[in-house]
Amino acid sequence: MAESSIFRVGDGPVQIDKERIAARVAELGARIRADHPDGDLHLICVLNGAFVFMADLVRAIDLPLTIDFLSVSSYGSRTESSGEVKLVKDLDQSLKGRHVVLVEDIVDTGLTMQYLLGYLRGRGPLSVKVVTLLSKPSRRVVDVPLDYVGFEIEDAFVYGYGLDVAHRYRNLPFVTSQSEA
Ligand code: IMP
Repeated sequence: MAESSIFRVGDGPVQIDKERIAARVAELGARIRADHPDGDLHLICVLNGAFVFMADLVRAIDLPLTIDFLSVSSYGSRTESSGEVKLVKDLDQSLKGRHVVLVEDIVDTGLTMQYLLGYLRGRGPLSVKVVTLLSKPSRRVVDVPLDYVGFEIEDAFVYGYGLDVAHRYRNLPFVTSQSEA
């Protein structure tokens, strides 16, 4: 069998392997569970990037939670986020009276998160918290509250575990960084 595999295309070093991700997701799930003792919890996944994280996270939270999905697209290149965000897919369910946790893949400049928090808060939830798998604090241009962070990483473009490079590699089971080539 040839060694070529979609799991080996990344030239960069694997930054966060699947065992480390699984351990951290379990911790995050336990903390979110503990912070919602009354059991009422509504998780919102930001498509597309957070879909893998969301799928693992919901199974790490021992509560009869509900889920919903939204999708946004941002204008500008990945290095020059314009802060203009367009809602591509809206929520299906009302947020009125719900305790919401927004599930994101990565917070970079924070502009997307700033938009999303404003949008969700305007829909009448009891509370909104944020969980993000990854955060790049050195890239932040706006201060956004992150309640649960999986991993803080340096300023490198990463992909895998839901994050893409030009729509590909979301299915890698680990997070890796792009080669410098
Ligand atoms: P922000 O608005 O600058 O915080 O960017 C947030 C969005 O940019 C994320 O939801 C991702 O879609 C994308 N993004 C930022 N950094 C990366 C990365 O390193 N890899 C893949 N996508 C990224």
